Amino acid sequence: MTVERNVVCTFCGCLCDDINLTIEDDRIVKVEKACGNGRGLFEGYNPDPIMPKVMGRDTSFQEAVKEASRILRSARYPLIYGLSSTSSEAQRMTVQLAELIGASIDSTSSVCHGPTGLAMQAVGEPTCTLGEIKNRADLLVFWGCNPLVTHSRHFARYSAMPKGRFIPEGRRDRKVVVVDVRRSETAKSADMYLQIKQGCDFEVLLALKALIMGRTLDAVEVGGIPAEVLQQLAVEMKSCRYGVIFFGMGLTMTNGRDLNVRGVLSLVRELNDHTRFSALPMRGHGNVTGADQVMSWLCGYPFAVNYSRGYPRYGPGEYTAVDLLCSGEADCMLVIASDPAAHFPAPAVKHMKTIPVIAIDPAESLTAAGASVYFPTAMYGIDCEGTAYRMDGVALRLKAPLKRKRPSDEEVLQALIEGVKSC
Ligand code: SF4
Repeated sequence: MTVERNVVCTFCGCLCDDINLTIEDDRIVKVEKACGNGRGLFEGYNPDPIMPKVMGRDTSFQEAVKEASRILRSARYPLIYGLSSTSSEAQRMTVQLAELIGASIDSTSSVCHGPTGLAMQAVGEPTCTLGEIKNRADLLVFWGCNPLVTHSRHFARYSAMPKGRFIPEGRRDRKVVVVDVRRSETAKSADMYLQIKQGCDFEVLLALKALIMGRTLDAVEVGGIPAEVLQQLAVEMKSCRYGVIFFGMGLTMTNGRDLNVRGVLSLVRELNDHTRFSALPMRGHGNVTGADQVMSWLCGYPFAVNYSRGYPRYGPGEYTAVDLLCSGEADCMLVIASDPAAHFPAPAVKHMKTIPVIAIDPAESLTAAGASVYFPTAMYGIDCEGTAYRMDGVALRLKAPLKRKRPSDEEVLQALIEGVKSC
């Protein structure tokens, strides 16, 4: 029995790097410090080898590579999608493959924080690290997110609870504000909860910015929030020493989308005339931030990139996976470490069923179960090393506490690159 300390959990964007694992007979038998989601990731993992499949039948790795390469080579409009639950090394190789075959490449960002990317390109990103927040932030605003459920250790490890260098009393030194359409678990533990009307975030953000700028509101309420409550929040924001707005899909996937995030970012920019303020998206999947980073380095754009002309073109709404499937343009799909068959809208899934799909995934997801070719791979951060980016953009090195018995995503992608070149 061995104990592996300070392992990184890759379940969510918090990437907690203090997990202790007890390992016996090549299985994780005890998980310490992780939340329920993290425990599920480690405890349920079986590293045993699994045969690749072609049309549901077990086959050799070489045969699967041959068939997948043939599909990719013969496609007229290949689509590559996923990337959020794999290492940045594999993400980098996926971009290389997309360029080689002239594919459109898109990550799960397009169905979560894609609008955040658009807003950042327009306004800029007033950001900081989670370490800075832990040590300095005395005002935390959670807008359209519910971290107590989705990122269970965020409060305890990075934001509301921990004692920091300039926050000696932890939670007692911080004020927590929640803005949401319903009284979530996070809202119940807040000092101040503002219940906003569905789809009114942009108006409320504009009103707050006006108040911060010293204007008065000619309205008794905005988006369901009384003007005096907004005034009170504006005063809190201007008078704090260090504030942060964490925003989630309640803001990015509702009316206004990127305009809402522009509203947050420009509000924060305004606040920096009065105090120190930052904004941070609550990124979900373990390395979805890495997908944006790697695609930005290599293509110049964070998602929705098309290589059909041999150079990268950016087109959210055109080259995004859901749009390419719903329009029926994509004629083959390579899915890496994600499960669009379980999460995409019905018309997109309907088209997926009519085209060859290649899936690379440690688990036989719904997408993998229906794929023409399925490559079972090792899980990054458990039996495969790599790099992942935390939600604040800090890159962490992932250990491999278990011995690897399956190919890594990188090895499969390298074999596909060679297979396509030799087709
Ligand atoms: Fe893992 Fe996220 Fe839970 Fe941390 S908060 S242990 S990264 S699931």
